[in-house]
Amino acid sequence: MATTDRHIAYHEAGHFIAAYAQGKTSDNGCGKFGVSIVKNGDTLGEVGGEGPDDDETAWREACVGLYAGFEAELRFDAAAASAKGHASDDDEKAARFISWLDGDPNTLEMELREQAKALVAKHWREVTAIAEDLLVFRRLDPIEAEFVAAAADGDADAQLELHNYRMAWADDLARLPGRTAKEA
Ligand SMILES: [Zn+2]
Repeated sequence: MATTDRHIAYHEAGHFIAAYAQGKTSDNGCGKFGVSIVKNGDTLGEVGGEGPDDDETAWREACVGLYAGFEAELRFDAAAASAKGHASDDDEKAARFISWLDGDPNTLEMELREQAKALVAKHWREVTAIAEDLLVFRRLDPIEAEFVAAAADGDADAQLELHNYRMAWADDLARLPGRTAKEA
């Protein structure tokens, strides 16, 4: 089965929500590019953000974020994700961070994949909300994506703020490059 936009959307939503759940938000300057399923060169969609800082906790968190893409895809459609196998780009990056950590690489990989899987399961409603919105809008800016996540987590204020944010944005549509009506 081919990878569809919906698979890509769940994958990217997994990355985004893992970063968000780990506290990487626009408030602290992380995740500042939001989340997208727009093709960028060879990359099928992407989640923007800062690279990890120079410490072990940050490398571990980065690995969890990288693995969360595939874990979300797996949870969404286990058969298709298993057939496709792991996302090599994400795995390569994670392997590099793991090589900087103390411990057996295989054990670390298993442990960090488990953490990614648990995070995706715990925040599945948010992952689903981001993924389904990505299918409509193709890309969500960081503030918008954080409102979507908070709203899906039951925050009624975020729901209203998201609505207002999108209404204001709709008025300004022509001024925002890359986010045109034909993309929606
Ligand atoms: Zn990925």
